[in-house]
Amino acid sequence: MKYFMLGIEIKPNIAHISLAELEKMGKLCAVITQNIDGLHQEAGSARVIELHGSLRNAICASCKRQYNLTEIIKRYGNAAPRCESCGGLLKPDIVFFGEPLNERVLSEAIDYASRSKVMIAIGTSLSVSPANYMPVYAKRNGAKLFIINDSPGEEDSMADIIIRERVEVALPELLSIINNRRLK
Ligand SMILES: [Zn+2]
Repeated sequence: MKYFMLGIEIKPNIAHISLAELEKMGKLCAVITQNIDGLHQEAGSARVIELHGSLRNAICASCKRQYNLTEIIKRYGNAAPRCESCGGLLKPDIVFFGEPLNERVLSEAIDYASRSKVMIAIGTSLSVSPANYMPVYAKRNGAKLFIINDSPGEEDSMADIIIRERVEVALPELLSIINNRRLK
């Protein structure tokens, strides 16, 4: 459990913060992520779809009731935490290797991807399923695909625009371009 507490103490970076700003400006509908660190929410993003779950939450293995993981750790320490509703064991609400994804989360991600006009794939080589399918859903429905990554990736040939740059550099830059345009 100490491991998870360490994870929670990591802070959002300028890329997370830029995405939260874009959402507040009404330029970004949602973030679809395979990260489990909860940093997008901490940076201020409201609509975050976490394909592999989140270390911020615990879930009952039996009835699927959700809890805040930090509070559970505070309350139970090293003892095995139990569900208040059914007494089932609680586990971090993340998808472990070989486990199926949460279907509701996946269909929400596909829905956003399919309805997007622009999809920006950020800081990923798009090699892990199902995140790598999201650009396919977007493109199939007529969206433009931007890729921001400092190294080549598997979906580069699908991209309309590739920005070969670190996300911590490219996203603040994108934000300032949009801001300047609004001031004029
Ligand atoms: Zn339960």
